[in-house]
Amino acid sequence: MTEEDRCNTPVRCDEVSHLLDFLIERDVPCPMCGYNLRNLTEPRCPECRQSLSLTVGSAEIRLRWFLAAITPGLFSGIAAAFLMIPIVIASVSGFGPPWDVIGIDAFGWTSGLVALGLMARRRTFLRQSSAVQRAIAIGLWAIHALVLALLLAGAP
Ligand SMILES: [Zn+2]
Repeated sequence: MTEEDRCNTPVRCDEVSHLLDFLIERDVPCPMCGYNLRNLTEPRCPECRQSLSLTVGSAEIRLRWFLAAITPGLFSGIAAAFLMIPIVIASVSGFGPPWDVIGIDAFGWTSGLVALGLMARRRTFLRQSSAVQRAIAIGLWAIHALVLALLLAGAP
């Protein structure tokens, strides 16, 4: 790649030089795939081909929608773990637990696993636009509110 391929204007070329100079001696992960960009020779990730630019980043990542998205699942997972105690006691003492209690517990475990999955894939989540993150968080809260409403409506 020639110097002219890399930059169209002198300012742009200067930005590319700064980016490559910055990466000569630093271990910096690609923001898309995590590949180590040390000693980069062109403004593009060699692994995922994402074009790269020098930017000013936020020291504080915006985690608002991520935290909102995992909260109901973590709560449900913890509640499901505690609900296992009476289920096990009822099973051991010969009274089978009611099926609706088992169903609620299964929902809680599933919801907790979804939250753990979101935590494991948080980079993917945070890569989404704010609107998509918000939609996922609101969707998860809506599902949990619906299940809680059904639970309360069905309670004796
Ligand atoms: Zn990459």
